[in-house]
Amino acid sequence: MRRENPGNVPNIAYMDENGVFNVTRIEMIDLDDYDPYVEEFKLYPPIELMRGCKSRCKFCQVPWLFKAKVQYRSVEKAIDVTKAYIRAGYRRIRFILPIGFA
Ligand code: SF4
Repeated sequence: MRRENPGNVPNIAYMDENGVFNVTRIEMIDLDDYDPYVEEFKLYPPIELMRGCKSRCKFCQVPWLFKAKVQYRSVEKAIDVTKAYIRAGYRRIRFILPIGFA
């Protein structure tokens, strides 16, 4: 969005001009510092309530993507975000929790 080289932007995956898929460096963040939606572009993906997992299932990307740390979005922030989705007209709101039933 800022016309930066995407290879310098942490925590993203992108396909370069040669068609090669790249994952940039992983930087741990506080989930509450980032809204999971972009009102300007009308992008309202599932709300990430939890990130990471301490299990190490061989087939799964979650532990290595997030350095086997588990983080949670706060309840207050989750409520604020949910209200924003409702204001945008969404009535079915989905959530992401890699090991939500654990
Ligand atoms: S998110 Fe699920 S599949 Fe992935 S490592 Fe954790 S328990 Fe295993």
